Amino acid sequence: MKICWFDDHRLGLVEQDHVLDVSAALKALPAPRYPAVEKGDPLIANLAAVREAIREAAPGARRIPVKDATFLSPVAAPSKIIGVPVNYIKHAEEAASQTDVFPLRHQQGSVQEQGFFLKANSSLVGPGEGVRLRFPERRSDHEMELGVVIGKYANNVPEDGALGYVAGYCIALDMVVRGPEDRSFRKSIDTYSVAGPWLATADEIPDPGHLAFSLAVNGEVRQASNTQFLILNIQKQIAFASQWYALHPGDIIMTGTCEGVSRVLPGDVMHCEIEKIGAMDVRVEAA
Ligand code: MN
Repeated sequence: MKICWFDDHRLGLVEQDHVLDVSAALKALPAPRYPAVEKGDPLIANLAAVREAIREAAPGARRIPVKDATFLSPVAAPSKIIGVPVNYIKHAEEAASQTDVFPLRHQQGSVQEQGFFLKANSSLVGPGEGVRLRFPERRSDHEMELGVVIGKYANNVPEDGALGYVAGYCIALDMVVRGPEDRSFRKSIDTYSVAGPWLATADEIPDPGHLAFSLAVNGEVRQASNTQFLILNIQKQIAFASQWYALHPGDIIMTGTCEGVSRVLPGDVMHCEIEKIGAMDVRVEAA
């Protein structure tokens, strides 16, 4: 099932070239409480019940062509966005060779030695909202990545069975301003975390370790690889992250980018595709 948020925070079910407005399925969610007792995104936390309600709502739903929908992040309120540093060998090589762009790279070790990083939740947008460059005079890069959305509480989970904690997958852009500041600062600019265009539920992707993906800027392919080249695979990422902190429903892991990161400028359009998930266009503007 492909589930999205679109337009004015409508809940959608994507079927071929159409989005079905299944917002009526939100009645399956428990009434909100404040303060919330459970951490995490309510829709992802209640995904099984919502999916059942989506099936009931779909037959009579209003249908919108995918091309006419404005897609928001498929997770509305994650408790955190996790970034995985240099997790493809060819990207590690390009980073090591460009010391002017990646000045601290030579001081850092393996993925586990560096540890993961966090991006501010407030930086999260969907593809329809676009990326806004606050510092267009500085180099902002695209990092095209597979996004993993955690489906249930995961604390110290073993690698075997770790995929059982996944709700689904999406396309992720880990945007960044290059430079000397702390990474979480440079990667937390508003709109610098893009997720979309929808959540492809885990049952649609039994093997996330063999997904071809690509990113083109204005039609020119800049990044193209396959998740089979991940240094730390999805299972290992979930196990490793959950050794350090609990993962909650809706937490997003941006699993690392491949070679070919490059600068974007106002007016550019990034076209991103991941096999079995779909495609999205993301416009770049000056803030
Ligand atoms: Mn990244």
